[in-house]
Amino acid sequence: MRPLALGATIGILGDGQLGRMLSQAASRLGFRVAIFGPDKGSPAAQVSLASKVAAYSDEHALAKFSEGCDVVTFEFENVPAGSLDFLTTKGAVVAPSSKALRITQDRVLEKSFAREAGIGTVDFFEINSLEDLVEAYKNSPTSEALLKTRREGYDGKGQVWIRRPEEAAQAFATLGGRAAILECKADFVREISVVAARGWDGAIQTFPIGENRHVHGILSTTLAPAHVPQAVQAEAGDIARKVLEGLDYVGVLAVELFVLPGDKLLLNEIAPRVHNSGHWTQDGCLCDQFEQHIRAVAGWPLGDASARCTVEMTNLLGPDILDWPRLSAEPRARLYVYGKDEPRPGRKMGHINRIKA
Ligand code: AMP
Repeated sequence: MRPLALGATIGILGDGQLGRMLSQAASRLGFRVAIFGPDKGSPAAQVSLASKVAAYSDEHALAKFSEGCDVVTFEFENVPAGSLDFLTTKGAVVAPSSKALRITQDRVLEKSFAREAGIGTVDFFEINSLEDLVEAYKNSPTSEALLKTRREGYDGKGQVWIRRPEEAAQAFATLGGRAAILECKADFVREISVVAARGWDGAIQTFPIGENRHVHGILSTTLAPAHVPQAVQAEAGDIARKVLEGLDYVGVLAVELFVLPGDKLLLNEIAPRVHNSGHWTQDGCLCDQFEQHIRAVAGWPLGDASARCTVEMTNLLGPDILDWPRLSAEPRARLYVYGKDEPRPGRKMGHINRIKA
């Protein structure tokens, strides 16, 4: 891939806040951005040169969209992988690949891939029926196990804990009898994530580790660089490299990890995109995750991912955003607002990066 010239057009599938921040980073580097997504007046479309409102499966709209793009990427992992295949058949340059998306949007394929790549995961079972679930729970080495939909779960949605055999039927029904995965409980002491990028030439840059705190299954804060032993930082970096190389990945991804007692790491999930736990890089790193993704897919040299300060990122969920007059006056902090109108409870409306040191 030759580096895209200034003024080239980057197409982004997905129109939320991640697309918005990718678009802002791209325009800073002199690119034009076109957004493809289902919502009119979306956070990403508001700040981009062009936008197409259509379903991700609309092949006619996809074909027309890609004609105007020098490269197409995505900010949303539930874009159908088949849509990326379709774009490729139309001659579009697409990154990350449909193969990477297909694996990471399915929890069973994702964990199987991780194991084949030599990365530890919790024990898990593939569930296609209630009988599978009853049998799997019987064989689970932990009495607490988490039933998750195989696909399309996020922010703790599509997940039910099972603590006794009698709870299996209700749990299966709660997920609508959909294809699922039963995961044994990880007794983690902390949750961390590693955000990393790989270019078309195979070069890799890894951001320092962030430590994440979730509330009701939704990310609340990330503190980074996290105070983790050097060995944990090194192992997390090694895991990120195995994932990037195993998927032949181009772009930024995030790997969420559980830290067990004794600092053993297990992979929880891979997000094939820029990630909420990487927002701190906007103020904490020389090159942030959004610019890094744009650089990677555009065939530019990757930026320097090292930290220049410690940042605590806090998500502004739902009505938190109404506090903007106070937040905007905070010293040593930067406020990011996503341009969504309805502050529904739990909805990601913005975030604030507070500089700690
Ligand atoms: P996920 O959507 O898979 O990232 O899960 C959301 C949150 O649920 C994680 O950040 C953990 O706090 C918790 N969780 C998920 N899977 C497990 C597991 N196997 N054991 C313990 N906690 C889990």
